[in-house]
Amino acid sequence: MIRFSDEPRLNEAEFGLISLNQTGNIIDINRSLTQWLGYDKEELIHQHFEELLNLGNRFFYHSILYPKLLTTGHVNEMYMSLETITKQTLDCIINAKKFVHDDKIFIDFYIVPVEKRTLYVKEIQGINKKLETALSEKDRLHQALMKKQEELIDLNAQLKALAERDPLTHLYNRRVFVDYLDHYQELYETNHNDFSLAIIDIDHFKNVNDDYGHQVGDHALVSLAEAMTEFFPEPYMSARYGGEEFVVLLPGVTKEEAILLCDLFREKVKQEEWIEIPITISIGIATQSGHDTVDSILVRADYALYASKRNGRNQVTHALDLTDLYSN
Ligand code: GH3
Ligand code: MG
Ligand code: MG
Repeated sequence: MIRFSDEPRLNEAEFGLISLNQTGNIIDINRSLTQWLGYDKEELIHQHFEELLNLGNRFFYHSILYPKLLTTGHVNEMYMSLETITKQTLDCIINAKKFVHDDKIFIDFYIVPVEKRTLYVKEIQGINKKLETALSEKDRLHQALMKKQEELIDLNAQLKALAERDPLTHLYNRRVFVDYLDHYQELYETNHNDFSLAIIDIDHFKNVNDDYGHQVGDHALVSLAEAMTEFFPEPYMSARYGGEEFVVLLPGVTKEEAILLCDLFREKVKQEEWIEIPITISIGIATQSGHDTVDSILVRADYALYASKRNGRNQVTHALDLTDLYSN
């Protein structure tokens, strides 16, 4: 029988050749394979083939490869790892064929190392891993960015509130109120939409501070602001005009309706128990007369307020009911 190792072209081939007898012992092996495995040929002859396999591959050899060989006579393109003398792994693709000679069974293995392919797979796995890391880092950065954006939006809302609201009562401040009034003045000039304006001032508030302290005074201001927001819901608009002075814009409200509404509110404040100390308010109202500018309507409401004070406080006055020369 021809031995691979006697035939130089097979001995030096670019693939490994190994012959086993029926019991699985090595009876021939070409030089290429012995070199890849790091053995001398003499060390391997008569050894069992499983000496070249690690535990996992021995199991594969005995339970799958060898039974298949005996039953079908061959195996094609199976992946298997051989173990070198230094316990390195040599990944291979193998073909094997059983044949019978002089009534004895022999098995030839044709072995092609796939080291390059393994390296290639490892490289691809490495690249995939880097890609996964990069993607998860991108996700993390994206989420951090979204969070920052939300924080910015939040901060903007806070800044807007700071710019528009009075810090004590959280009502709109004077500047926003005047913008709002401007807007209604324009609407009046284009569409003749009526509106009224009320200025509300706490009576003898200085005494409240003097008698009860500034903190109680502050609390009264906050409570009054809350009562205004509740009593004058949208589209009415309440604002702190300054100190203990508040304003309400009343879109679509006539003189009579404004007097009625404001007097109800004045009475509510007088009766109310939400304020630690009894307070009363005076109110001056002006209704867009057809000739008013933003400034003139504010001045007329202020004169009406002054009249309420002068006439004894805790009352409502409309500018059109004034008889003195400043009123109209
Ligand atoms: P009148 O009935 O004529 O309006 O008398 P008044 O005492 O209410 O009016 P005056 O203008 O003399 O005093 C207003 C007081 O309001 C004086 C000031 O200390 C007080 N005040 C203004 N702003 C605040 C504030 O934010 N907190 C407190 N506690 N007091 C304030
Ligand atoms: Mg006052
Ligand atoms: Mg005042």
